[in-house]
Amino acid sequence: RTVYVNGEYLPETEAKVSIFDRAFLMADGVYEVTSVLDGKLVDFEGHAKRLQRSLDELDMRAPCTPDELLEIHRKLVELNGIEEGLVYLQVTRGAAPDRDFVFPDPEEVAPTLVLFTQSKPGLADSPAARTGIRVISIEDARWARRDIKTVQLLYPSMGKMMAKKAGVDDAWMIEDGYVTEGTSNNAYFIKGNRIVTRALSNDILHGITRAAVLRFAREAQMEVEERNFTIDEAKAADEAFITSASTFVMPVVEIDGVALGDGTPGPQARRLREIYLDESRKAAI
Ligand code: PMP
Repeated sequence: RTVYVNGEYLPETEAKVSIFDRAFLMADGVYEVTSVLDGKLVDFEGHAKRLQRSLDELDMRAPCTPDELLEIHRKLVELNGIEEGLVYLQVTRGAAPDRDFVFPDPEEVAPTLVLFTQSKPGLADSPAARTGIRVISIEDARWARRDIKTVQLLYPSMGKMMAKKAGVDDAWMIEDGYVTEGTSNNAYFIKGNRIVTRALSNDILHGITRAAVLRFAREAQMEVEERNFTIDEAKAADEAFITSASTFVMPVVEIDGVALGDGTPGPQARRLREIYLDESRKAAI
């Protein structure tokens, strides 16, 4: 596999980053994951904009322009022959000469830019989407700036392990009695014709898939309510689902051992997945 590191396309075994890189020492880095369908990028513009926002919030320098980023994404997709899969991008504050909590002078330390692809045939026609996934609820013990897409992913990773140990697929996190989001996705339930999901704030990541799906839902005459909700409300719902760049719209069929509806993916979540995939394929670049 060919990867990209700071201006160079290299075999993955030859790619190197300094041990002094601040992402390695302090999780001082941000990332994006863009899906690839039919060899094309889904919602690249959304990801590029959110990347810029993450960089701005952390006073981090952009490594290059959005056009250059697009070029790198496309070249890697082509070099690695990705028809369906993901492009992972990470920008870090770079390798400062010493380990110091204070940010290094951006004039002296250049950001690190790394990209790689992951081929995932069957991403769109996923078996999990046919059966739906099961989730448990866990405490949300992350930091308070979840709107910034940092590589500080230890707690979400622990959350996935809690789910795995419980024999299910994922975990929804709860703070002050309300669901924030999934470990790596936004969380929704459907009651009647209404989709409920938490409103945007610093408490959750502003999902690129979320924005698109809510737009498509409104266009399909579904009602959308962005507000706090409890796990009990979700358990009593007709349907539930998650969204992310790597799962698109994924039906949730069980929460904390409680089956939703008849325990199979609901019609509205299935329809939203279809609409999302159709529209994304059409708009991919
Ligand atoms: N929330 C969290 C915590 C995530 O990690 C992700 C995916 N990285 C999402 C939501 C979904 O965001 P997107 O639709 O942009 O992939």
